[in-house]
Amino acid sequence: MGLIGALEAGGTKFVLAVARGDGTVVDRTRIDTRDPATTFAEMTAWFDSVQEPHGPIAAFGVASFGPIDIARTSPTWGTITTTPKPGWSGASYVSALGPFGVPLAIDSDVNGAALGEWKSGAGQGLDCVAYTTIGTGIGTGVVSHGRSLGGLSHLEAGHIRLARAPGDSWPGQCPWHGDCFEGLACGPAIKARWGHDLSHASPAEVELVADYVAQFAATLALLHMPERMIFGGGVMKAPGLIGMVREKTRALLAGYVAAYDRDLAEVIVLPGLGDDAGITGAIELGRQVLEG
Ligand code: ZN
Repeated sequence: MGLIGALEAGGTKFVLAVARGDGTVVDRTRIDTRDPATTFAEMTAWFDSVQEPHGPIAAFGVASFGPIDIARTSPTWGTITTTPKPGWSGASYVSALGPFGVPLAIDSDVNGAALGEWKSGAGQGLDCVAYTTIGTGIGTGVVSHGRSLGGLSHLEAGHIRLARAPGDSWPGQCPWHGDCFEGLACGPAIKARWGHDLSHASPAEVELVADYVAQFAATLALLHMPERMIFGGGVMKAPGLIGMVREKTRALLAGYVAAYDRDLAEVIVLPGLGDDAGITGAIELGRQVLEG
């Protein structure tokens, strides 16, 4: 099997790697995300340069910020669509990496991280794993039998509507929905509501966020029956939050699903790979497309 070129594209940095088919990274670097022309030129120059010592790249895996068109049959497959990030709407990974003449696999950043956690992190060896990041925004990837689930597009589970906690009338700050999950519980929403992040919050504030995360976890459980639900992102670092989410999720499910009617410490967990989930998933995407 040839080498895999992998790219984790974020709003502030691109992580680039070249790996063998077994996932071993032979070289990696990071570059700043600037305008697409500059960033893509720097990216392709690096991938070109690493072929000299390491050999030819046989496939690429891309896990990118979005929204991004990941429908392979779409004429705009691999193109960033409606991002507010200046200059990036219409930027195409297919155009940028096409000149290498090798197969591409392109997925969202969250699906990439979910795949990485399934491949070698907290979801390793399991059939169904849900990975949710609660940070600047909220996104979920569900990996079932090694593939991320999607339909017309990648999932947008962060925008699910939740029942409001009693007495909570803060309007939320999602520009589209107001008090959807992301509008209530992402990092910027927490900061807008209380003026500080959750690591400096009172127990009552942490508990309110735990209410919303637990409602979401219960929804994920009912929809997908994951063996593991991984919760990452800056918000989840708040002391005590994950424990509250476990207890509240179990309480919300109320014994209805026997598999979740237990201490959920092994079901609702923090990520295993930290910052490397995305690039690990991008390598796996490349490996999968190489295997056909
Ligand atoms: Zn929303």
